[in-house]
Amino acid sequence: MQKTAQQNYGDDPLKVRDTDQYKDEYVHGFVDKWDELIDWDGRANSEGDFFIQALKERGAKKILDVASGTGFHSVQLMKAGFEVTSADGSPEMLAKAFENARKRGHILRTVHADWRWLNRDVHDLYDAVICLGNSFTHLHDENDRRKALAEFYATLRHDGILILDQRNYDAILDHKVQPTHNYYYCGDNVSASPEYVDDSLARFRYEFPDKSVYHLNMFPLRKDYTRRLMKEVGFQKVTTYGDFQETYREEEPDFYIHIAEKK
Ligand code: SAM
Repeated sequence: MQKTAQQNYGDDPLKVRDTDQYKDEYVHGFVDKWDELIDWDGRANSEGDFFIQALKERGAKKILDVASGTGFHSVQLMKAGFEVTSADGSPEMLAKAFENARKRGHILRTVHADWRWLNRDVHDLYDAVICLGNSFTHLHDENDRRKALAEFYATLRHDGILILDQRNYDAILDHKVQPTHNYYYCGDNVSASPEYVDDSLARFRYEFPDKSVYHLNMFPLRKDYTRRLMKEVGFQKVTTYGDFQETYREEEPDFYIHIAEKK
């Protein structure tokens, strides 16, 4: 979605461990292909109504989607009747999200904001903040993770909740899945596999049917570490779920979903 079509990780991609990198990782070739190939209906089916139920059960109506990306979750929630504001640190992503929502008959309210300074640009209070699609993993520095969580906390009403998901990095770090393990998204269109992993970097390789290849350098969040950080910034209760519904793999979930409650 940036103006370039190619990703550029320089001479040594494994050295790129910087929180600001997210702005250059989602080049337009990658984002356009992703949106083209991952059919939203298929993705909606695989997630089911997990998030909608979780929000309804807790009485949430007004939602801030802090990781809008191309707008998938914002649009699902608008369709389900929630009042949604969509934020992202990438203006190109927000433009794409707005367009995606418009095509589906919704006008998306967007805010350009980096999580680390969220409350500089967001001046309202929400029942729920959602940070989905393995987005929090883009923060490579612990201070940035704490700062972002504190900013999410601050924009919530006194009884608000944060819903944040992440890949199951424990399984990768503890070698419970093979490095060649393929994570399939909504069918066989896009394959993702961990190409390199150490305690502070998970470099994933994404391959599309036309054989084009992209990467993302992410911080491998351990499940209990994320839970601890959430509690340390003030959330009182954190409940963690495995994949939202049964997957084809029985042993280890691919994703964890944390629901953190402020009250
Ligand atoms: N929720 C979207 C979905 O599931 O389709 C996915 C989003 S994508 C994986 C991650 C998004 O987080 C990107 O749009 C990126 O621009 C945004 N992002 C990453 N780091 C950020 C930061 N520090 N502040 C704001 N947005 C950030």
